[in-house]
Amino acid sequence: MADRADVLIVGGGVVGTSIAWALASRGVTGIVVVDLDLAGVYASSELNAGGVRATWWQPVNIQSCLATLDFFRDHAAALGFRNRGYLWLYSDPELYAQAIEKRRFQNDCGLAVELLSAPEVPERFPILDRGLEEIVGATFSPRDGLVNPNAVRAWYRTEAERLGVVFRNRHYVAGVVTQRVSGAAGSRRRVSAVDVIEVERGEVADTGGTVREILTTHRVPINKQAGETRISCDVVVNCLGAWSPIFSSKIGVADVTEAVRRQICLVDIHREDIAPGVSLDDLGMIVDASGLYFHPEGAHILAGFSVPDEAPGFDFGYDGDDFFETQIWQRLAHRSSSFERCGHVRGWAGLYAVTPDCSGIAGKVRSFDNLFEAHSFTGRGVMQSYAVGREMAALITTGRFEACDLSALTRERFEDPDRWVREELHI
Ligand SMILES: Cc1cc2nc3c(=O)[nH]c(=O)nc-3n(C[C@H](O)[C@H](O)[C@H](O)COP(=O)(O)OP(=O)(O)OC[C@H]3O[C@@H](n4cnc5c(N)ncnc54)[C@H](O)[C@@H]3O)c2cc1C
Repeated sequence: MADRADVLIVGGGVVGTSIAWALASRGVTGIVVVDLDLAGVYASSELNAGGVRATWWQPVNIQSCLATLDFFRDHAAALGFRNRGYLWLYSDPELYAQAIEKRRFQNDCGLAVELLSAPEVPERFPILDRGLEEIVGATFSPRDGLVNPNAVRAWYRTEAERLGVVFRNRHYVAGVVTQRVSGAAGSRRRVSAVDVIEVERGEVADTGGTVREILTTHRVPINKQAGETRISCDVVVNCLGAWSPIFSSKIGVADVTEAVRRQICLVDIHREDIAPGVSLDDLGMIVDASGLYFHPEGAHILAGFSVPDEAPGFDFGYDGDDFFETQIWQRLAHRSSSFERCGHVRGWAGLYAVTPDCSGIAGKVRSFDNLFEAHSFTGRGVMQSYAVGREMAALITTGRFEACDLSALTRERFEDPDRWVREELHI
């Protein structure tokens, strides 16, 4: 296999794969995607909650999610898209007032967000029959919904491979080779090659061991290495998700992103506890005033809660029954009598790549001629993936964004707090 790429995408999660497909769709050839583990056992793309919505506060997040939702809707059967909406409950009057204010712009964008008074909540969603005295109001956004994130990533990859994109599995990005180039704009740097370590076949399948060890310690044990390769390239795109800052640090670029553990679990419901006439089947995502979020997932409920004081780090440890009992069960039972006797099935932990304003980073790295990046999408990477892929492909091939301007997501915004893309409605 040629150790050269016209475009080298490092990281084959949902974002890198979407960019690969979008570039290939524009006729770009010589695209290579490298990833330590294309099965994505510890990739956020495989570990998330599958919620997709455009109801954000920042225009760039609304527009990019809206374009992605439209794409999901057009491919609903293949991607498991279910257009069931998001219900968001508020107990803080100030926050609810802000939500009402932001709704104007959301609805100007075509989101048709409804306001529900507290008494209307159980009328529309009878599963919610407890603790309603503390609710000051709610919003329901009918265009939002749920998707199968694994199907989304697989779809991008299948289409990309059909157009000639090469995916190199079990390749760990270990080094970056740069050179200085002089031009009319003065002296600049470019990435001329990326060094990858191939990891022994079979070791990567050892999901509990080697992959986890490498992704938490950021080095490949010598006895697991099958060989090292230098891949020369014309263009590089950093799509390493929560690991992107490690790539940046190898070329002297400081990132503001932190990896933060997020846990979710599957919850078993006693069907006989659900009142007659109440159904879970048509429910979309419900975001409780407590910060708990949940939606039906097959025969179960998938529920998550982002522990506010979670320390940053590459931690995949799932707290098991303790997480379920202290963070999930109490909040579920507090909101619905149907959940009083619910049980813990299993759960997992993945990483949010969190920036100080809770919005992603996308664009060209200014100090480099040929380095682009799209990462740090906190809890929003799946729902932005189509638009980010399409717009990054436009930027790489034409030098500018097209249908959806992502320039607000440039890393340079962190130099000036007035340019931060502060997103409040994250979970
Ligand atoms: C619990 C949880 C719930 C979430 N819920 C939602 C949700 O409901 N909706 C939503 O839109 N988003 C959600 N997210 C966020 C979403 O999953 C991420 O934003 C998105 O998956 C990020 O995709 P990515 O491609 O940027 O990164 P990733 O999917 O993490 O991909 C990065 C890839 O880089 C590879 N890699 C890392 N280091 C190296 C290296 N040195 N060499 C080679 N390969 C390397 C990894 O193997 C991985 O495949 C959630 C996330 C979590 C953890």
